[in-house]
Amino acid sequence: MGHVLSGKELAKTVRADVKRRVSESTYRPPGLTVVMVGEDPASEVYISYKQKACRKVGIESEVKRFSADVDQSEVLAEIDRLNTDDDIDGILVQLPLPNHLSESTVAARVSPGKDVDGLHPVNVGRLWRGESGLFPCTPTGIVELLRHYGVAMDGALAVIVGRSNIVGKPLAALLLRENATVVITHSHTSDLPGLTSSADVLVAAAGSPGMIGPDHVKPGSTVIDVGISRTEEGLKGDVDFDSVIDVSGGVTPVPGGVGPLTIAFLLRNTVQAWMEHTTGR
Ligand code: NAP
Repeated sequence: MGHVLSGKELAKTVRADVKRRVSESTYRPPGLTVVMVGEDPASEVYISYKQKACRKVGIESEVKRFSADVDQSEVLAEIDRLNTDDDIDGILVQLPLPNHLSESTVAARVSPGKDVDGLHPVNVGRLWRGESGLFPCTPTGIVELLRHYGVAMDGALAVIVGRSNIVGKPLAALLLRENATVVITHSHTSDLPGLTSSADVLVAAAGSPGMIGPDHVKPGSTVIDVGISRTEEGLKGDVDFDSVIDVSGGVTPVPGGVGPLTIAFLLRNTVQAWMEHTTGR
């Protein structure tokens, strides 16, 4: 029987560290603006979590809202304004955007130094080049969780299910930096179980509830479940937790695994951007 790899304890430590850094500073508080287009209910929930988390650590947050049919030029103009606003350290564009807006154009408009989601091409390039920058929160949280539980990454075979710009691809870059051997799989991958069942570290980020069962898992390995799907039975991860925990060495639960880390590392990214803006550090 494997261990339950909760993200709550690490998230608490990260939040406390952020709060301490903010409270000990003599500078103005950090400022985060969330840009929200439309009224997606799941996005509204995430935004309220983010705002609550900001309040608790002393980050000032605001939401800039646009109607679902807004012109892209209006969103870009607001991002331009936020880029030059000295009181704003972080700009987060809540995804998904309505289809008529280009996520890549909008992401590329955010100043790289305020890009707390790590989606600007400059930050993506820095990540793959092994340089410092602002990197996506969920993958950062996953690597820190593995470190927290003492899971070996150096030399490990890491298999990632999913190749999105926000999870799968940046996680591959971060794990490469830890000297893991990384395989990225996706919906065109043939023989998925053949690959996942040789992984020392398996990360499921497909958004397909329960798709990873015991046959996908190497005995004793570490399984990280990123997936969050709303089903009739409540929130479900991509991993069939009850059966996989019997095979693996450790599994993250849903909820309470990766989710709390995403918000904690958003706070940390905001503080990182703030420190660079206010002190040049
Ligand atoms: P996404 O953009 O929809 O990407 C999903 C990826 O999974 C795609 O690359 C897709 O392949 C692949 N995929 C889907 N079904 C597959 C299958 N049966 N076999 C192999 N690969 C498959 O999703 P995302 O934004 O990365 O998010 C993934 C999941 O994580 C979602 O449930 C999301 O809600 C959750 N999430 C959680 C957090 C958190 O804080 N816990 C943060 C972000 C996301 P193709 O590229 O070939 O289509």
